[in-house]
Amino acid sequence: VHVYDALTDDLAQRIFSYALERIRLDPPPLDGPRSPEDLRALVGRTITAQGIGGQRALELFAQVLAPSNISVDHPRFWAFVAAAPTEAATLFDLVVGASSLYGGSWLEGAGSTYAENQALRWLADLAGLPDEAGGVFVSGGTAGNLSALVAARHAWRGKNPANARARGAIAASSSVHSSVRTAARVMDVDVIDVPADGRGRLTGSALGVALADVDVDDLIAIVATAGSTNVGVVDDLAGAAAVATEVDTWLHVDGAYGGAALMAPKLRRLFDGIERADSFIVDPHKWLFAPYDCCALLYRDPRLARAAHAQKAEYLDVLHEAGEWNPSDYAIHLTRRARGMPLWFSLATYGTDAYREAIEMTLSLTQEVAHLVDRLDHVELCLRPELSVIVLRRVGWQPVDYQRWCDRTLRDQIAFVVPSSWKNETVLRLCFVNPRTTIDDVAQVLETLQ
Ligand SMILES: *Cc1c(COP(=O)(O)O)cnc(C)c1O
Repeated sequence: VHVYDALTDDLAQRIFSYALERIRLDPPPLDGPRSPEDLRALVGRTITAQGIGGQRALELFAQVLAPSNISVDHPRFWAFVAAAPTEAATLFDLVVGASSLYGGSWLEGAGSTYAENQALRWLADLAGLPDEAGGVFVSGGTAGNLSALVAARHAWRGKNPANARARGAIAASSSVHSSVRTAARVMDVDVIDVPADGRGRLTGSALGVALADVDVDDLIAIVATAGSTNVGVVDDLAGAAAVATEVDTWLHVDGAYGGAALMAPKLRRLFDGIERADSFIVDPHKWLFAPYDCCALLYRDPRLARAAHAQKAEYLDVLHEAGEWNPSDYAIHLTRRARGMPLWFSLATYGTDAYREAIEMTLSLTQEVAHLVDRLDHVELCLRPELSVIVLRRVGWQPVDYQRWCDRTLRDQIAFVVPSSWKNETVLRLCFVNPRTTIDDVAQVLETLQ
């Protein structure tokens, strides 16, 4: 069959070499988007009856398509939340693809499931979850939050026959990640808004006030954030846990971005209470140096998640009879890539101390940047950084000035920063997850704000 014709050795080598060279670019070019018209002109139609050939397709990728993507692993990519995968993790991602691992069931994927579960266990230990805790790697925080909340609703429906037809609600703060509101919409449940405090944190007391007027029997879950995306603050997790216990509801902790900071002993107290979470997520593709796409989803009691998520059919019965761990059973999916394997290989390669060191580097960089901003007249911190997000204003600037500066800074290949807002004011937000970012990188960019 033609589609199984081996590529020529020359082409196979070119593909391997491209991958290794790209991984080792230090730094890669920042690059940037092109218009659809430009891409049409430069690339044209690539899917044809006869095929254009691997050589040509690789060339188009290397010369046009790849440089039309911003390099997320560039040390001056500070917009959104970047990624900074390790060499071990990225190289092993090639092996995961090459091995056609099926990561859904123990029957088909015992070996990779065993390894993924060790990486999950390491994360569960960081959070202080009990021995029975477990879960699965899903595509991202969005999928993780939705799967966790669906499990929470299933448990809530099981608590009381009256809940079987009830709509239910989740309580979340005004600074909760957009994906939590999306999950509520997908699930068609209400959101009880809890006003965040002056630093953007959900507190136990605000939660108590917000829940005072609602029927807490309707409550499916409380969602707390361990590292808000916009400003990088950790909610009052102990306070949220106390309220969750008091009203007997599920506590979900979204640590997609900030969960990595559990590694830093100096910051560990910020996370007090996380050990009481019923479910918890962290995205290794954000600040734990794994390639896309990878979110660790953990449950205190995985049986509750399995009850919600395990798919049942005559052709699947064989998977459940053995009673072994099936990753598919813990989220909304069946077939899955063994996407925790690059993280596993990287952790096994370098050891967790190296991870701690890398995370502490970004944390101390952030503090250095804060001190630098304090010394400069043209910029001001909007709030003191807790994790690795700096939120600053350029004194005297209007929103258009910020946008123009951001556009120019990317166009000139200096850095990738986008404006955000804080308390209705347009601001710049710099999020650091790459240990190769230096204080000089930041100092140079801040100078261009003069
Ligand atoms: C990034 C983020 C998410 C969404 O994660 P994706 O992997 O982008 O789906 C959810 N919650 C928080 C706090 C985040 O920072």
